[in-house]
Amino acid sequence: MPTTTRRPLPGRVPTDVEVAIVGAGSAGLSAALVLGRCLRRVLVLDGGPPRNAPSPAVQAFFTRDGTAPAQLLDMGRKELVGYDSVEIKQAKVVGLARRGKHFELTLEGETGRRSTRTARKVLLATGVEDELPPLPGMRELWGRGVLHCPYCHGWEHRDQALAVYGRAKLVTGLALLVSRWSADTVVCVEDPANLTENARRRLRRQGIAVHEQPLAALEGTAGGELRHLVFESGEKLARTALFIHAHQHQRSPLAEEMGCRLSSKGAIWVSKQHQTSVPGLYAAGDNTPGTQQALLAAAEGSGAAISINETLTREECPK
Ligand SMILES: Cc1cc2nc3c(=O)[nH]c(=O)nc-3n(C[C@H](O)[C@H](O)[C@H](O)COP(=O)(O)OP(=O)(O)OC[C@H]3O[C@@H](n4cnc5c(N)ncnc54)[C@H](O)[C@@H]3O)c2cc1C
Repeated sequence: MPTTTRRPLPGRVPTDVEVAIVGAGSAGLSAALVLGRCLRRVLVLDGGPPRNAPSPAVQAFFTRDGTAPAQLLDMGRKELVGYDSVEIKQAKVVGLARRGKHFELTLEGETGRRSTRTARKVLLATGVEDELPPLPGMRELWGRGVLHCPYCHGWEHRDQALAVYGRAKLVTGLALLVSRWSADTVVCVEDPANLTENARRRLRRQGIAVHEQPLAALEGTAGGELRHLVFESGEKLARTALFIHAHQHQRSPLAEEMGCRLSSKGAIWVSKQHQTSVPGLYAAGDNTPGTQQALLAAAEGSGAAISINETLTREECPK
């Protein structure tokens, strides 16, 4: 990796790179682009596919609406080729530790071989993992017939026969939202006893029927399209998409292991500068609080990169 012309910091142990970015999704690659343009020595660790890998397309991404997830990231990687201070490495970060004023990362390559790298700052762009309800068909249809977000997939399923599944506490809001895309929306409640009279009235007013019978399975095509909801009685209901409010957890345990403050929902707390509660450790994208979309993750990655570069600059140019 080429070095920049900046002088080494007096009194500081030189590090392999200035910034290590963990994760090569929208947030990570966008951050790498900004930092590459700042002549920063950057190592991006790519530990596997992004969250939306099962989906056929990234929708609602300005200028890239409908691009396949892998293609979007491929374009991002190609843009980085011109910035020779940026290296992308296929490796999972399996350990992160503070060593005085810098960080040490333990990488695990595709062959399982471990190595270490040091960096002055680290950006966690590690995303989240969705927890799907344990029903037959749910995992197989995830991303095509089973969906989480009408902003991402509502337009493709407008005016179709839709369903919304989940616990009473969350299902009403999602069903009312989904019904903006199709008047033929029904609700399947996991715990009907908890569905309040007010929620039932709101759903009724929008013509949304409530199915209280437990859902047993989903039937669909080998290509992931939903065909039927199957209830415990064996009764089937034809639907083209099922929206769910999936619980999620951090894709990587690194933030928790580093003692970062997490929100009540398990997101990594960050300051306006995208810094976690651990100085020098930043986070951006789905793993932080807020709306989760690829374009927003890219914007957060860009914002985090600017904050990191400004912090590095302040350290290099003391008052
Ligand atoms: C089915 C589905 C469909 C979606 N459709 C859309 C859509 O149409 N439009 C839209 O805007 N958004 C969509 N989203 C949301 C979108 O996927 C996310 O908002 C976006 O991927 C977030 O980007 P990110 O970089 O934060 O995380 P990710 O894209 O998940 O990237 C995180 C990366 O970090 C890597 N990683 C994790 N831990 C480590 C580690 N320890 N070491 C190295 N690498 C690691 C992961 O392998 C992954 O590649 C969809 C989501 C789902 C689940």
